[in-house]
Amino acid sequence: MTSDIEVDTAPGRLDELTARVVALAEINSGSYNPDGVNRCGERLAGFVAELAPATLEMIPVGASPMIAPDGSRREAPVGMALRATKRPDAPFRVCLFGHLDTVFAVDDPFRDVTVAGRRLFGPGVADCKGGLVLAMEVLRHLDSVAWGHDIGWELLVVPDEEIGSVGSKDLLRRAAEANDVGIGFEPSLPSGNVAAARKGSLNVHTIVRGRAAHVGRAHDQGRSAIRGLAEVVVELEALNRRDGVTVNCGRISGGGALNVVPDFAMGSYNLRVETAEDQAWVQDRFDAISAAADLDVEVIWTSTRPPKPRTPALELLLADVAEAAEARGLHIAAEDTGGCCDGNDLAAAGLPNVDSLGIFGGGIHSADEFADIDSIPARAAGVTEVIRRAWQRATT
Ligand SMILES: [Zn+2]
Repeated sequence: MTSDIEVDTAPGRLDELTARVVALAEINSGSYNPDGVNRCGERLAGFVAELAPATLEMIPVGASPMIAPDGSRREAPVGMALRATKRPDAPFRVCLFGHLDTVFAVDDPFRDVTVAGRRLFGPGVADCKGGLVLAMEVLRHLDSVAWGHDIGWELLVVPDEEIGSVGSKDLLRRAAEANDVGIGFEPSLPSGNVAAARKGSLNVHTIVRGRAAHVGRAHDQGRSAIRGLAEVVVELEALNRRDGVTVNCGRISGGGALNVVPDFAMGSYNLRVETAEDQAWVQDRFDAISAAADLDVEVIWTSTRPPKPRTPALELLLADVAEAAEARGLHIAAEDTGGCCDGNDLAAAGLPNVDSLGIFGGGIHSADEFADIDSIPARAAGVTEVIRRAWQRATT
């Protein structure tokens, strides 16, 4: 079947796409800046409304847990998610997903968006505001062709992806249940390729409590939490011996005056796992090692993203991506990566998805972030073609 999707590269269209990405990226939407996230969401809602969705909602999501170096816990509020649906009763439904937040805090010096020809520099232009604009183009294409009217869609844009989507897990789970395939608009990999398997990522903290004592008068009555933490860290880092498991203690804190035996110490870790079995194993080992320690050790998990393995359903979608790209003279291959995103959670909840079909860009999570506007038209047409192939497979 030849494609009836028009690749619109008219200068006026590219100017409009540029203006849209700038409009989203000029608002700071760091994950912990809910006001900015919500203003960005309102602008996006303005674009989405043009697609005449059946529903367009801004949905509050739960706060994100944070643990300070002194072990105190608090809940950081985050912005609202945007969810829009069209034809939710269609026999075949696709979930398009992305996020409003960026890694750049409200006081980050990287805040200006600059335009150099068709290349934009600025916070979030690639990750993933350019992708959100690309998603709008895909939905516009679906509206423009007759077969597109047989397909239902849900657009889910969360406010907390960069901090693990802890508050959005429920929305992601529901999206997985309500749809047949997922398309994510995270930026492409630096090569232009898409991500296939992704590792899971978990954040965890071990809080060790000992007994304080004066070093000069009663050292033998103290129980050093720092010594206890050191022993636990050494044992936990030894879990790296298992293939498919990465344990990194990235931060330690605790203690105080040098003449006092410390009664508090905390280690904070990021873990990566390749399979669900690896995840269960490493979580189990954290509990067991902590329980066996001399001192009281509390284990606190603050975020978990399950691994996203290659599955037969994912391989089919990846083949669609490669073929749709080929038909447009592009070469898009699939690569496994250690990074993770909402595609992990959606896959674990049963939704096969390709998650990095957003804009071509680079330097993400740094002050060098850029995105190429003229990658949008061809990629949007290609993604629409991927949706058509998945729909045809499911309905014939
Ligand atoms: Zn992202």
